[in-house]
Amino acid sequence: MTNSPVENLVIIGSGPAGYTAAIYAGRANLKPVVFEGFQKGGLPGGQLMTTTEVENFPGFPQGITGPELMDNMKAQAERWGAELYTEDVISVDLSQRPFTIRSQEREVKAHSLVIATGATAKRLGLPSETQFWSRGISACAICDGATPCFRGQELAVIGAGDSAAEEAIYLTKYGSLVHLLVRSEKMRASKAMQDRVLSNPKIKVHWHTEAVDVYGKEEMAGVQIINKQTGEESTIKAKGLFYAIGHKPNTELFQGQLELDEVGYISTQDGGVKTSIEGVYAAGDVQDHEFRQAITAAGTGCMAAMLAERWLSAKD
Ligand code: FAD
Repeated sequence: MTNSPVENLVIIGSGPAGYTAAIYAGRANLKPVVFEGFQKGGLPGGQLMTTTEVENFPGFPQGITGPELMDNMKAQAERWGAELYTEDVISVDLSQRPFTIRSQEREVKAHSLVIATGATAKRLGLPSETQFWSRGISACAICDGATPCFRGQELAVIGAGDSAAEEAIYLTKYGSLVHLLVRSEKMRASKAMQDRVLSNPKIKVHWHTEAVDVYGKEEMAGVQIINKQTGEESTIKAKGLFYAIGHKPNTELFQGQLELDEVGYISTQDGGVKTSIEGVYAAGDVQDHEFRQAITAAGTGCMAAMLAERWLSAKD
């Protein structure tokens, strides 16, 4: 185990939030230390490493692949002096200052901390899910709905909450018909969202319905469904299946140390990035269950680094 002197700032996570925080902190001469993650909450580079085209990140009019975008962010963070460790943080101690951050390989003490550990989209575990992930199955309609292969096609959404309702409505802009698969006889979405779904002629709600599997060759061609009430199995010829069954924030490390909301996201103050402990900031999907976009993650990463810098200056 390697011990180091007290660092100005440690950043946990290497998605758009973590790397952006590293770029800003590096340019502010804070020499940030970044634990990029290895396995625990995802990959170095974060969720975008699992996608192909990113078409809505500003500055890339022709789009850019997720891995290329993240490689660029990483190179930019390194250019400004961020020290990167491709390691998972296994524990933190925020009860006393300086804070302690531990991986398997080292223990680092730091005056301030940016948490950017992201969130993981929940999956259903369908038999062919891995084969068709990003080849028809997606966990983000806003990210993938406009993809040419989905335009004018039948699409399906699984879920019953506000996100599912929102995604189904959003997808009607692109799909010829959107099937909404709802497990029970009612939705959990707000009344207003339900009304919008039920009155939309391009949305067909399948009550008591679950997906059994998806099928296709190279690309997904349809979804096998079952009506749990009647036991009847059938197929819908949807080219895309969008999961809207929730995300799990990667916050196990912080349980009992930081204020989390009822579903485990880090609670922040005034819609910003300050957490319940001074000098600890949360950026990106780990504190955002509403937008969950690369640009919003990067934006909050910037905010976190700027506030950490101000806080460190005021402390000196
Ligand atoms: P993440 O990207 O989730 O990164 C979290 C990081 O934390 C990872 O590097 C992980 O390794 C690390 N980590 C977790 N736990 C630990 C630990 N214990 N120690 C160290 N590190 C840890 N958004 C768009 O704007 N446009 C798109 O086109 C788009 N497409 C998408 C496609 C897919 C398939 C998915 C899944 C998401 C997509 N998104 C898209 C959403 C976007 O990827 C996320 O909003 C964004 O990545 C969130 O960034 P983040 O930095 O908060 O966290």
